[in-house]
Amino acid sequence: MMLIDADKLIEEIDEEIEYGTERIEKHFDDADKYITKGLRIARKDILAQPTIDAAPIKHGRWIRVIAEDYECSECKAAVWSGKANPISNYKYCWRCGAKMEE
Ligand SMILES: [Zn+2]
Repeated sequence: MMLIDADKLIEEIDEEIEYGTERIEKHFDDADKYITKGLRIARKDILAQPTIDAAPIKHGRWIRVIAEDYECSECKAAVWSGKANPISNYKYCWRCGAKMEE
């Protein structure tokens, strides 16, 4: 599945429709009329697609405070690591959910 910003795509299609409509009004060009009609159909089809809620991923990193103690760069949540539980095991911040960079 390819995720895209449909709002941005609709905005661009609307600009093309407006441009095509202006040209039809000025020149009565059949090609512009059919292109504009096709863009309106594509616009309708895009808006009819199922949607999902998506949010940008928050990124962060663990900052060493002292010895094996780290804190999240985004929310300062503390993590105590050690040989049995190295900091690399903490892929996400337990408090804010930031995805930790290596
Ligand atoms: Zn955090």
